[in-house]
Amino acid sequence: MNTATFSRGVHPHEYKELTSHKPIEKLPAPESVFIPLQQHIGKPCEPLVAKGDTVTTGQKIGDAEGLVTAPVHASISGVVKSIGHFPHPLGGRVEMIHIQNGSTGASSDSEILLDRPSDWEKASPEELIRVVREAGIVGMGGAGFPAHVKLNPPPDKPIDAFILNGCECEPYLTADHRMMVENTDEILLGMAIICKILGKCKGYIGIEKNKSDAIQRMQERVEALHYEFAVVPLEVKYPQGAEKMLVQSVLKRKVPAGGLPLDVGVVVHNVGTTLAIHDAIINGKPVTQRVVTVTGDGLRDPKNILAPVGAPFQDLLTYCGETMSETKQVFMGGPMMGLAQYDLSVPLVKTTSGIVSLHQEPVGAIRQMPCIQCGNCVSACPMNLIPTRLARYTQNQRYTELVDWGVFNCIECGSCAFVCPSSIPLVQWIRVGKNKARQGQKSAS
Ligand code: SF4
Ligand code: SF4
Repeated sequence: MNTATFSRGVHPHEYKELTSHKPIEKLPAPESVFIPLQQHIGKPCEPLVAKGDTVTTGQKIGDAEGLVTAPVHASISGVVKSIGHFPHPLGGRVEMIHIQNGSTGASSDSEILLDRPSDWEKASPEELIRVVREAGIVGMGGAGFPAHVKLNPPPDKPIDAFILNGCECEPYLTADHRMMVENTDEILLGMAIICKILGKCKGYIGIEKNKSDAIQRMQERVEALHYEFAVVPLEVKYPQGAEKMLVQSVLKRKVPAGGLPLDVGVVVHNVGTTLAIHDAIINGKPVTQRVVTVTGDGLRDPKNILAPVGAPFQDLLTYCGETMSETKQVFMGGPMMGLAQYDLSVPLVKTTSGIVSLHQEPVGAIRQMPCIQCGNCVSACPMNLIPTRLARYTQNQRYTELVDWGVFNCIECGSCAFVCPSSIPLVQWIRVGKNKARQGQKSAS
């Protein structure tokens, strides 16, 4: 079996054995959900309901004008208890719609479905893109970019390849893995729909070799269903699932600095997003739930869970046997790119691929030492940057040099900080530097 990869990168311990063999379980309906009006990159939604309204699962409850946005839907049937600002897993307080479960008397099975073409194969790309937009589908691997925008590239950027991102290279996370094993046919049909929308393009399925059952299952079903998709096994290396690395590994095409995969004729969607596109077009279901890995040594029974969007993290952790007395930190996402959480009332959002509960001390609690010029961070950086220099320019507020040395090419993968023997929080510094440089550019224009 040939395996493809990119240059540099790191090999963190995987910890995937905690959940990789565990079938997806459905979370019992929560008492309440909190649906943020912004779960995507772009314009936040305005509420379409008011306090006291009854809502049904699948009902659109927030939307906005404009191209780069995505509507939100009720993930349970019930009553709108309030609309206000609540803690968000990305930080700060964000406007959310609080729905209390089951107060309508409606059957818990009732659900509002999307208006969609009866035969997707005869539908135009525009009709299919409209359904994807109405379903509120965003990049569910964590990016949160509205999927309908990615599926409608500008005419001067012809697309000839679609890559299903099945890498899931972050330690601990296994939700995409389980979906590839358990929902194989639906994901493949989702790929076929995407390839039809994009026009003449070839489909590729990139999966890291540590998911051999998913590779085998995909290969078998591609052949059995006569798809012309190529299954590409990839070396287990972080950040193999970063879009630019994936395009390089699968197609040997290099996305230019500051560019996007569509600049080299490629669209990439992750497994959850592709399954959501299938569910919207074939079953008329908007994004009201997602599969999330809830794991870590802070839990008695880590799981892969299908949970309603808006379910509080605490409900998910409790369902997995959280032992809070021993938990030292909880992340949304994996430990490489994830965000530490300080309030477990925050809701699951469309981009929550994992919740990781750990006993070990937070990174910030480990004593930072001076840089010893070892060069490990430079050797690890998949974007060929010099992380130590970027951190230093940020510390010295030299933002012009920061931009000149490519800070905007940083994909914030965390590989540099992972290998640093001095425990210097390089990514945090680079993130601060990026924000400052961006603010400087805005105020200068
Ligand atoms: S500088 Fe950015 S891209 Fe390079 S390793 Fe660090 S976080 Fe990743
Ligand atoms: S890895 Fe850490 S100690 Fe080594 S050069 Fe980079 S910043 Fe300095």
